[in-house]
Amino acid sequence: MSSGAGRIRLIFGQPSSLASDPRTSGLSVRPGQPTMMPMDHKLPIQQAKSDGTIASVLLKVEPAPSVSSLYLHIPFCFHKCHYCDFYSLANTNHEDFVGFVARMGQELEAAGRYLSRPLDTLYIGGGTPTLLGPDLWRSLIRHIHSHVHLAPDTEWTVEANPETVTPDLMAVLAAGGVNRVSIGCQTFSPTHLKTLERWHEPSSVVAAVESARDAGIENISLDLIYAIPGQTLGQWEDDLSQALALHPQHLSCYALTFEPGTPLAVKLSRGLIDTADADLEADMFTLTRRLLIDSGFCAYEVSNFARAGRESRHNLAYWLNMDWMACGPSASGHVAGIRWKNRASLSEYLHTSTPWPTITDLEMPQPARALAERLMMGLRLARGLPYESLLADAEAIGARVSFVAALGPLIDAEHVIVDQHKHLCLTEQGLLLADSVFRQLMSAVFDPNC
Ligand code: SF4
Repeated sequence: MSSGAGRIRLIFGQPSSLASDPRTSGLSVRPGQPTMMPMDHKLPIQQAKSDGTIASVLLKVEPAPSVSSLYLHIPFCFHKCHYCDFYSLANTNHEDFVGFVARMGQELEAAGRYLSRPLDTLYIGGGTPTLLGPDLWRSLIRHIHSHVHLAPDTEWTVEANPETVTPDLMAVLAAGGVNRVSIGCQTFSPTHLKTLERWHEPSSVVAAVESARDAGIENISLDLIYAIPGQTLGQWEDDLSQALALHPQHLSCYALTFEPGTPLAVKLSRGLIDTADADLEADMFTLTRRLLIDSGFCAYEVSNFARAGRESRHNLAYWLNMDWMACGPSASGHVAGIRWKNRASLSEYLHTSTPWPTITDLEMPQPARALAERLMMGLRLARGLPYESLLADAEAIGARVSFVAALGPLIDAEHVIVDQHKHLCLTEQGLLLADSVFRQLMSAVFDPNC
């Protein structure tokens, strides 16, 4: 649902998606799901073996992992937005929804083996999870409660398209335990919504927020997109002001990216639209930080802003390279250093004979990759990463010398600092050059002899 974080464009707050599929891959960063591997340093992917599911791989991990974050992917939308390359289908029907929810129940039952302790976070994204009406949501919630342990303080987020939010649905979600909604707002300008081919009215965002609050869901995140073709700095400021007027607890603000194969990218290649000027995009990024920080938000991640204590715990699990289980077509997971991605095929998902979906990508634990991921994701956070432990990790893979050598010029240029907590962090200037910073550090990790 939300913003559609992009590939490697990274500068100006752009999610540094590492993989080909930003939605279901890791750095990405857009609320929801992370990535498989960094940029052009992608390591060879080992093809899934055995029965082609992650089950056979995880079975060999001793002791059996117990994961405290879970992502569920709901691959349905009522319309395909023109910038979106997430796995979601618009030409589905109620029968598909019914089959999907039943199938998800089977997968959750199987995945329950690795979900034996109370979840810290549960994130249901898509797609448009709220396209499933109240009845199917009741069923899905029953499956979740049957197979997953929830704690009183589990952060349970559901992504919502404003056009599909109803008071009834919000009441069902709240009664089931959902305590956070992430609403795909993107922009309050009808003109720019049209450019994105987002099919909702700005007023429906206001109504969706009210419905959630009336149902008792107070923790509300809004997704916004900037650098939309034709958008001015003043219009972006107006979007931010309108979003703030709704008093969200969290805001995700991503620059628009043109994902290959999307209708928006086709229009760009045909010269029908143009990208935002780089300086304007940088100004929008800077304005976003200034305005939101002045409004009492913490800029805790490159593109994410939260009221105190309202950081997305689920996305922090991604950024901190922690473990999470993933269910549903195209979802990607990370457990015990193993990364995988489920096949992006609804029809196959509905008709496989095993409860586990087949997977398309599998990456086994690899120290250099783990350090690269740690850097790429952790440096997005304002808190940065413990410097000494990065050095130790670099030492362990024989890359300490090259890592320190790469850091030197970045520190001299004040793109990164080691702060008073001895954490390596991007500076304000470094945030604008994050893509370049990450590339240099990646090279030091993957090619220590260069
Ligand atoms: S609503 Fe659906 S098509 Fe639009 S951005 Fe979200 S996932 Fe993509």
